[in-house]
Amino acid sequence: MSHTPTVGSKNGRLFIVSAPSGAGKSTLCAAVRRQFPHLAYSISYTTRAPRRGEQDGRDYFFVSTEAFEAGIAEGRWAEWARVHGNLYGTAAQWIADTLAAGRDILMDIDVQGTRQILERFPEAVTIFIQPPSLAVLEQRLRQRGTDDEATIATRLANACQEMASAPLYRHIVVNDDLAQAQRELMDLIHHAGQAD
Ligand code: ADP
Ligand code: 5GP
Repeated sequence: MSHTPTVGSKNGRLFIVSAPSGAGKSTLCAAVRRQFPHLAYSISYTTRAPRRGEQDGRDYFFVSTEAFEAGIAEGRWAEWARVHGNLYGTAAQWIADTLAAGRDILMDIDVQGTRQILERFPEAVTIFIQPPSLAVLEQRLRQRGTDDEATIATRLANACQEMASAPLYRHIVVNDDLAQAQRELMDLIHHAGQAD
């Protein structure tokens, strides 16, 4: 691994958002991206198949397992993890270049990835999105209608473990009322850096 830039005043800042699947993270991040167009969104690489409506290069870079594993061997990922049976990773060079250009970054990654990023960038602003309850989480996963039963079962089984990692994060936003959660998240991003 070639680089470890520090996040100083001239560099951009990293915002990491994590949540158990179905908590509403994509919905909230989409709202943040609309509200803060200057915030660079880190498009992850994944071996997962695209969902209906997802676009390569916009939502993810969809790659083969072989290509992803070659990236591991070459040290291409700032972090990577196996999540719900698929591989996900963040391009190290893009993070380094974007921060060095002074742009803030929004990352949507899981708890394992957050731990790895915090080792490199301890000043990253970490935010955990929580559903109001596991029952609501299940309801949202079903309502979304994008995953089969086996996928929903895997994601629910992982949810408890992910929720137990919430204390790793500096901020917690409960996504019960969507408008309120959006406001809280945007306030956090807006004020982080001033308050931290
Ligand atoms: P994640 O990215 O965390 O897996 P999504 O953003 O895809 O979750 O949200 C899961 C489902 O829940 C979607 O159908 C979304 O429209 C819905 N949803 C998100 N937030 C809320 C909320 N506050 N109240 C009700 N439904 C929500
Ligand atoms: P989904 O398949 O629902 O889009 O994402 C599943 C999980 O993978 C989510 O928790 C999401 O945050 C996480 N994820 C997405 N991209 C990355 C990444 O680049 N690295 C890591 N570690 N997790 C990721």
